[in-house]
Order: sequence, then structure tokens, then C-alpha cells
Amino acid sequence: MAVRTKLLAGNWKMNGLREDAEVLARGLAQRATVAGGGRPACELLICPPASLLMMVGGVLSGSGVALGGQDCHAAPKGAHTGDISPEMLADAGCSYVILGHSERRHGHGETDAMVRDKVAGAWRAGLIAILCVGETQAQRQAGRATDIVLTQLAGSIPDGATSGNLVVAYEPVWAIGTGLTASLEDIAKMHAIVRASIPAGTRILYGGSVNPQNAAGILTLAEVDGALVGGASLDADSFWTIACCCAEPAA
Ligand code: PEP
Repeated sequence: MAVRTKLLAGNWKMNGLREDAEVLARGLAQRATVAGGGRPACELLICPPASLLMMVGGVLSGSGVALGGQDCHAAPKGAHTGDISPEMLADAGCSYVILGHSERRHGHGETDAMVRDKVAGAWRAGLIAILCVGETQAQRQAGRATDIVLTQLAGSIPDGATSGNLVVAYEPVWAIGTGLTASLEDIAKMHAIVRASIPAGTRILYGGSVNPQNAAGILTLAEVDGALVGGASLDADSFWTIACCCAEPAA
């Protein structure tokens, strides 16, 4: 069975100006560089806003911390004012891109078909897509959580998915930025359901108010291959503490 190296991804969302972002990125790069044998058992990834990619990429260079985008257009270039292409992200030093985040699906009306095209675009540019799926509170209460997640997976993953080009992030919408987290039992259950419908060895992250207090419980679940962290990634100490909760890779 393939080893699934855990991934801890920080989604800075629309936060950060050059000065504070540089301090944050530098704090993380320093921890990663001096950690030596104490380095967390996970890959680290930072997804800053587009305006900060080049600067943060420069600060992270040589630290082993990867750089990612938060979204992209499906096309390589063209008349798409305000958008950024997968090729542009790759050119800026990104190796990952978050796609289908609930703040895009619900805040910008992104459909599964649109997300699928973006994933295909990300692959064309050589990026690993972190595909976000998750149900709303109302959908969970109506007993539709599994259906919603499976529908999003089926509609958002193009042909050609492999464990090398895809990461899935299960993020219950009601848990994002709210301080609420899904129960460990519900996380394990949904991750097992997701695992059955994606290529073997594909990593599945949990996202939704992960913080230094709850990270150990979540990150040591057998089905959890890391986390997508929003708020707590804006503090280097918090992000590092979460990273240090990652157990050795599952085999
Ligand atoms: C996210 O941005 O995907 C997220 C999970 O945010 P938070 O950790 O703040 O809930």
C-alpha cells in the first residue's frame, strides 16, 4: 500500500500585507529550517493571496515549505480580468492550488463543472489540485452530507486523477471559520466514504477550525492525511504546533 505523507496546508485567504506576511512567512521558514530532526512528519504548504506569492515564495525558498495558490481560472491565459491562470501560479513557484473551496462555491457561485475545469487546468500546468468538498449545516441536518460530498467528488474530478495530482480536502462548510469542528467519529466516517471514491493513495485532508487544541485528535485519525487550516495558519506558532501533531505517514 502506498505511503501517504501528511500535508498541512495553510490557507491565508484574503489576509496579509507585505510587511506582516513577510514576518509570518519568515517565522515559518525559520522553524522549518532549524527543526532538523524535530521536523514535523508532514509536508508544509502555504497558500497566500496572489499579491504575496512572489514575496512569500522567496522567503520560503530553501525551507522545504511549499507554495500554493488559493484558486485559479481554468484557461492558460486570455481575456479574464482579475483572474489568475494555473500557468501563472506555476510560474510564481506554486506546486499546489486550492480549488472548489466553499468560499468559492458559495460566495462566487462555482459549480462542480467549473471546479472540474479548473482542476483540469491545474493539472495541465503541472500543479497538484487540492479539491475541497463539504456539506452545509442544513444539508447535514437533512441527512444529505454523504450525498452532497459524493456528488461534489463525482462532478469535480476530471478523468486522469491520480494520488500524485490530487488531494481532497473534506471541509464541512459549517465548520469553516466558526470555531466548530466535526466530531472525530464524523470525520473518520466521511474520510472513509471519500476514500472509497478516489484513486488509491490519494491524500484526504480535514478542514474546519483546526487549531492547536484540537489538532492532535484530528491528525492522528487513521483516515486523515493532514489538514487545510485557515485562521490558525495566520500565526506561525499555531501553525507549527498543528504541524507537530502530525503522526508518521500511514502505510
Ligand atoms: C479553510 O480556509 O479552508 C478553513 C478550514 O478555515 P478555518 O481553519 O479558519 O476554519
